[in-house]
Amino acid sequence: MIYKRSSTLFAAAEKVIPGGVNSPVRAFKGVGGTPIFVKEAKGAYLYDEDGNRLIDYINSWGPMILGHAYAPVVDAVVEKAKKGTSFGMPTEIETKIAELAVAMVPNIDKIRFVNSGTEACMSAIRLARGFTGKDKIIKFAGCYHGHSDSFLIQAGSGASTFGTPNSPGVTQGTAKDTLLANYNDIDSVSALIDANKDEIACVIVEPVAGNMGCIPPKNDFLKALKQLCEANAILLVFDEVMTGFRLAKGGVQELYGVNADIVCFGKVIGGGLPVGAFAARNEIMNHLAPLGPVYQAGTLSGNPLAMAAGLAMLTALNIDDAVFNRLAEKTEYLHKGMTKALINHNVAHTINRVGSMISVHFDEKEVYDFATAANGNNDTFKAFFHGMLNEGVYIAPSAFETWFITDALTYEDLDFTINAVNKVAKTL
Ligand SMILES: *Cc1c(COP(=O)(O)O)cnc(C)c1O
Repeated sequence: MIYKRSSTLFAAAEKVIPGGVNSPVRAFKGVGGTPIFVKEAKGAYLYDEDGNRLIDYINSWGPMILGHAYAPVVDAVVEKAKKGTSFGMPTEIETKIAELAVAMVPNIDKIRFVNSGTEACMSAIRLARGFTGKDKIIKFAGCYHGHSDSFLIQAGSGASTFGTPNSPGVTQGTAKDTLLANYNDIDSVSALIDANKDEIACVIVEPVAGNMGCIPPKNDFLKALKQLCEANAILLVFDEVMTGFRLAKGGVQELYGVNADIVCFGKVIGGGLPVGAFAARNEIMNHLAPLGPVYQAGTLSGNPLAMAAGLAMLTALNIDDAVFNRLAEKTEYLHKGMTKALINHNVAHTINRVGSMISVHFDEKEVYDFATAANGNNDTFKAFFHGMLNEGVYIAPSAFETWFITDALTYEDLDFTINAVNKVAKTL
């Protein structure tokens, strides 16, 4: 495939945008080469500036669960835009999407909309601190909760791709309030709780991790977390920015039957527009301004275009009861096909999968936390990435990312992909 125009556009971008991109992982630093510039997308396919068609397994890093340019979402946005794009005043559609979200997700009474997953997580821990009157938080190595200061400690994903787990610019003062535990290791959490008695406001976790590849919670990890938190008056925060409205209508709370105290959303909830949200029971949400003392605000929060896109997306997912099963079946089919192809060519690997999230790690040992995820062979990943790209399949340009399956993918697309894996595996 030829990427002439993409290279030219990238060179122009580099002159005026740091690294040529507005979010680091897009820059292909983890895999080498220059990024592909997309011109348009429809359903399961991307069309780039050089006229190549690519099957898309990134899907805007999650939001496009029903495929690109999904008509009900596009129509809703276009109709709304004609009536004004922002008011900074309440609109009815904000209540409509809030009512639907509260109906779909277990265990929440109220939801506040923001503009990104980062904002959602940042606000959630402020609320947890305000509610409990405690300062420290526990996060897990390899989990990503956006780029706000408190979370840039072993943050997985983009941060890990660049080997800068702790970003300059985060002060010691902020960093000392973030304690680091290991995913799927409940003892590492209880040790931190014991060493910081009555100081911990919340434990924040990706309840199915997706930013160090896909890592499912093992055994009763989430239940044990919940019990530990309850016993120590600590709030449990589920960061469902990736998993919310993707793994089930009610996200991981529904799928694994564990209730969190605060839940964060992003990605799917905005249908491809910039939306985040956080939600909880009344008791907690009523601490938020203007009802309570914990401040949080946003000029464009609840923006009508963003709410229209999100409402159309959630409505589609709410009506179609079979969608989550269908997505899981497609993902399982891909899993089986890729396993066969990789085994055929003796490529050491582990594939992790939950619902429509799947990741391929080039290491035969079980991948269950950040350390085991980091064991994967990165040279094999780079060769795999470029091989797949050459076959017309676009996966994330980093070994630490999950692939997102969309409902727009047909079984022919999946077979095409498996066939590509088979061809590429031969060369690894
Ligand atoms: C993507 C993501 C975020 C950050 O969301 P942005 O919209 O990129 O700010 C936070 N948490 C998780 C689990 C994510 O996957």
